[in-house]
Amino acid sequence: MKTLRLILGDQLNIKHSWFKEINEDVLYCMFEIKQEATYVKQHIQKIAGFFGAMRDFSSQLQEKGHNIIYYKINDKNNSHSFKNNILQIAEERDIKNFEYQYPDEYRINEELLTCASKLKIASKVVSSEHFYTEREELSVFFKDKKQTVMETFYQYMRKKHQVLMENNKPVGGKWNYDKSNRKKWKEDSFIPLPYEIKHDVSEILAEVNGVGIETFGNINDTFFNYPLNREEALGQLNYFVKELLPLFGDYQDAMHDREVYLYHSKLSFALNIKLITPKEVVDKVEKSYYKNNTIGISQAEGFIRQILGWREFMRGMYWKLMPTFKKTNFFGHQNALPDFFWTGKTKMNCVKNCLKNSLDNSYAHHIQRLMVLGNLALLLEVDPEEVDKWYLGVYIDAVEWVQLPNTRGMSQYADGGLIATKPYVSSANYIDKMSNYCSDCSYDKKDKISTKACPFNSLYWNFLATKQEELKKNRRMFMMFNLLNKMDSDLLMSLKSRANSIINSPDNY
Ligand code: FAD
Ligand code: SF4
Repeated sequence: MKTLRLILGDQLNIKHSWFKEINEDVLYCMFEIKQEATYVKQHIQKIAGFFGAMRDFSSQLQEKGHNIIYYKINDKNNSHSFKNNILQIAEERDIKNFEYQYPDEYRINEELLTCASKLKIASKVVSSEHFYTEREELSVFFKDKKQTVMETFYQYMRKKHQVLMENNKPVGGKWNYDKSNRKKWKEDSFIPLPYEIKHDVSEILAEVNGVGIETFGNINDTFFNYPLNREEALGQLNYFVKELLPLFGDYQDAMHDREVYLYHSKLSFALNIKLITPKEVVDKVEKSYYKNNTIGISQAEGFIRQILGWREFMRGMYWKLMPTFKKTNFFGHQNALPDFFWTGKTKMNCVKNCLKNSLDNSYAHHIQRLMVLGNLALLLEVDPEEVDKWYLGVYIDAVEWVQLPNTRGMSQYADGGLIATKPYVSSANYIDKMSNYCSDCSYDKKDKISTKACPFNSLYWNFLATKQEELKKNRRMFMMFNLLNKMDSDLLMSLKSRANSIINSPDNY
């Protein structure tokens, strides 16, 4: 055997050029590494999803005739280190070359560079053939620009890849239909039944438990319903485009206590482990828009912006800002994450519902992550390190290159505004506008200071009052500060006092 090729758990791209031909001189290797399952405490569905998809991928390669070594989590040959496993196999099998695909995570990238330097054989790193952009493309794009705004990058991507473009102008006349994406969902609107995928992951769970990996969250081990291979991911994509895309944009920001996914695609896990490419998804949506007049431009553009814009932007910013990005804490927040993030036990109905989605399904959609859970963590002045760890553990789609910019940057403003143009904070007003949560809550959405008052209200005004100095130059905050500065000083004092009680013991609320 001459060449050893490593496949990481989020590099399950069966269409990669590596796999075009069967080569007897190539040995592939895949490892379930304990450290990857424990470096933050993770949701059981995330572990089941990664291991399930990896095992499926390895069986496919084997069936096609490729040589592969697969170490399960409980395999006695598994040293639980990429480096040691690779060194051992290279020595035992008289390997002459080591090859791997660019890892998307900074930490693994460093580890594999060390590993390659320790091997006394040639090594080579190749593209994962997944993203639209190269790792460094965004750094080059923003090199001479004052601000790193997603919208500028998105327009560049639309032009470069000619997506929803006509004569070099955006189809429909506008680049962005964000303002049409803000409808509140009403119970009488129809949502088709979810796309059915059903896996039995009980064997994986038994093995994970057997080696003592600590997890959290809930799972139905005979009804695991995320795509674990390319075929299922394509099924999920086709279903989304046919059934959900016609209303995706309208209800993109809506939340409801009886609905988990609403019109969202549930494709992030399949995309992040590379079962399908972003180009396949964007092409399918664009084609369906041109073919099908039930799909309006605001739906198609709203969805394509998430993939061609936000997803590539977050990846580029991650590689532009790492490794210092991971240490940023603009506001110097130090508080612990409340226990209810792990248990779901709180009287705040919006928070309870978003946590229930997260703990039951390893899923919450963008607005639940940003404007309920992230908003609350920021208002409670939680240490961004703690917030990151929770987000990285709880969601099935959480891999650091996309989780970190979204959490530390977008949601906690810990980078001081490199990703987001302002901190995403709100009172009960926004949550009530976009959901039905407030109508069934122990707290009063309009009340500010009594014991019945919605905690988000006092926390919001307290945030503005305490951060005014740091944010006073941010134009997008001017209107909020204007209102704050007109507020009666006694009322502001009472708001701050209630906010401090909540910040000091959030688990009582
Ligand atoms: P849809 O709403 O159907 O969107 C379609 C696709 O667009 C998604 O599958 C995803 O690939 C992409 N997308 C949408 N928004 C973003 C975004 N902000 N950044 C990057 N891609 C985006 N997404 C992750 O994939 N992994 C994470 O760890 C993650 N952490 C997040 C943490 C916070 C605090 C916030 C605010 C957002 C986070 N997101 C993350 C983005 C977004 O919430 C999820 O991609 C989305 O909820 C996944 O569900 P879906 O596939 O149904 O998405
Ligand atoms: Fe959430 Fe406040 Fe509304 Fe209750 S009243 S659901 S805590 S925003």
